[in-house]
Amino acid sequence: MNEANKYSLLFDPIRIGPVTARNRFFQVPHCDGMGHVRPRAEAAMRAIKAEGGWAVVSNQETEIHPTSDLSPFAENRLWDARDIPALRLMTDAVHEKGALAAIELVHNGNHAQNLFSRAPILAPSDMSLDSAFPKQARAMDKSDIRNLRRWHREAAIRARDAGFDIVYVYAGHQMTLAQHFMLPHMNTRSDEYGGSLENRVRLTRELLEDTREAIGDTCAVAFRFAVDEMLGADGMQAAEEGRAVVELLAELPDLWDVNVASWANDSVTTRFQPQDGYQNDYIGFVKTVTSKPVVGVGRLTSPDMMVSMIRKGLVDLIGAARPSIADPFLPQKIEQGRIDEIRECIGCNICVMADSAGVPIRCTQNPTMGEEWRRGWHPERIAPKASEDETLVIGAGPAGLECAMQLARRGYQVTLAEASDDLGGRVLRESRLPGLGAWMRVADHRLHDLRQRANVQIFSQSRLSSDEVLELGIPNVFVATGSRWRRDGIGRNTLRKPPIIDAQSIILTPDDLTSGKMPPQGTVVIYDDDHAYIAGVVAEKLAQDGYNVVFVTPESRVSSFTVLTLEQHRIQARLLELDVTIICNHSLAQIGPDRVQIICGFTDRIQSFACTSVVLVTERLRETELYDALKDKQLKALELIGDAAGPALIADAVYAGHMAARNFERTETEIERDWFRREIVTLAEGDLE
Ligand code: ADP
Ligand code: SF4
Repeated sequence: MNEANKYSLLFDPIRIGPVTARNRFFQVPHCDGMGHVRPRAEAAMRAIKAEGGWAVVSNQETEIHPTSDLSPFAENRLWDARDIPALRLMTDAVHEKGALAAIELVHNGNHAQNLFSRAPILAPSDMSLDSAFPKQARAMDKSDIRNLRRWHREAAIRARDAGFDIVYVYAGHQMTLAQHFMLPHMNTRSDEYGGSLENRVRLTRELLEDTREAIGDTCAVAFRFAVDEMLGADGMQAAEEGRAVVELLAELPDLWDVNVASWANDSVTTRFQPQDGYQNDYIGFVKTVTSKPVVGVGRLTSPDMMVSMIRKGLVDLIGAARPSIADPFLPQKIEQGRIDEIRECIGCNICVMADSAGVPIRCTQNPTMGEEWRRGWHPERIAPKASEDETLVIGAGPAGLECAMQLARRGYQVTLAEASDDLGGRVLRESRLPGLGAWMRVADHRLHDLRQRANVQIFSQSRLSSDEVLELGIPNVFVATGSRWRRDGIGRNTLRKPPIIDAQSIILTPDDLTSGKMPPQGTVVIYDDDHAYIAGVVAEKLAQDGYNVVFVTPESRVSSFTVLTLEQHRIQARLLELDVTIICNHSLAQIGPDRVQIICGFTDRIQSFACTSVVLVTERLRETELYDALKDKQLKALELIGDAAGPALIADAVYAGHMAARNFERTETEIERDWFRREIVTLAEGDLE
């Protein structure tokens, strides 16, 4: 049996109400930071998924009314008919590639802040907002509920008119009114919408019935429902009310899209949940209750897992958000038996970070994500080489590997030289830390590709000097030599008063730890002025290895950047469980041979305590020595990329490598011209009044 046949059941069409999906691959709704602000970018990105073989391509949360205003986040919007043309860009583009288009209508209740619209905030009962903002939501009265139903119904009709084939009612992620009404801690009403489960589900039932009645003859009605809040007895549980809700509504929707709440549980990172298919134990019951098709998610990238989920009767359709972001062509690769070409999601949530920051989506594994329209990048296609010139890439970290792979795909002769014994650079080093093993996929995917190619030569244990580079006689050189962590304590919060270091022997950096150098047993102070993941992971490792760990940060919480990747809470909880002492709001004042002094960011009060080692996680120094030495050597092309050009995320290094390969042998004018398209607000005559 060849690979394609083995997975053929994934390519059986399936009926969803009045429409038919061409196969079992369903891109469930996911945010993309483009939405109503950048509709062309959104349409182009979704169309790439359709081209890659997804049978259904959904958009993201689509606000139905100004009382559900998620500004400043760039979700979709369907407040009135004027929002239709922007959405039609997507449905036309998705249809053109043979897929169905789905829309996730939403009213966010107290999850919305209505900062732009300044509309009142609605909830089942009087309550605070879902965010730290001094504003409250008011309990909806009967006329509010009637209005909500009308808004939803009218939005469904507009969705149909915009060309969508599947229209969602959404009760999930603890972000929507329909779900808020179901949850007893949010719904304390005593009317027919509160109290018993039947009453708490009434609003959802009405929304489903209204939607079916309005558009159900031509569009399928999907219901996205979080069966479990993963709060144990404190929340809705799959085995109890979660199941009861499915029983109450079993045959009402045409499709059940089921997952767990909150978003941090649904989109959990590999650091905290390494297992693919991690939602199966929660959602597995749904198909035993309803005869309607069921779609489920769980970072599904393995076709064997997908087939087994369908065979076992857990789901009918394979849902994916992140796997479709990392590889929009995942279905096509499975269909064509190109399993080893799948670019697997590493579960890092940098995609989520972009949405949380209100900027276009990006992905560590797929540098073209979010660039489909504005730069015209395609994940599977790249321009062929422009000459017979040879290329040399120095450094096999994420930047060098991506650059080499894309140059090779363009057809150039590529030589890749790496100083270390092993390839992968920081990805290899960081993947040795607890929970980050899956990150090695960034290097594995690229190395696998490079090793298949006759036009690529790879040399490890090859630290090149500038003379050696010149001796090679390769005229085009990409320098991806990375960066190393500073040892002098200088960072964002110590710029004015660098700590006086007279104790180099007790200082380590993450580079030491990831290359196997460990401190002597005792008390280790970790000073984090970087605020991303590294210091937290290092603390976890050292605590697991039996060290007494003190974590000091100028921020008010551990690894504060990871709020954006939905991990911060878990990271701090894990460190506390491992008995790590956490000291927030303090900067490093001084390191002595056996003690450190730290200073309060508010009062300047100094504390001092004994320690045996200090791990400094502050800033990185760029490795530019080789690049600097090559600058005046008359090479045809010389480019510094990745962390050596600007230390940042792995996603940024991959992106830089990709960009360099795409731009190689393009003229300055061409590069300038394509840098990059923007969606500019244009004013028509009538708008000027
Ligand atoms: P990036 O994130 O930009 O890819 P990394 O730090 O992950 O950066 O990788 C840089 C790689 O470059 C490391 O594996 C390092 O060993 C390698 N390197 C640094 N200097 C040289 C050199 N002179 N010759 C070859 N490889 C080098
Ligand atoms: Fe997966 Fe990370 Fe890409 Fe998101 S950014 S799709 S989690 S690899």
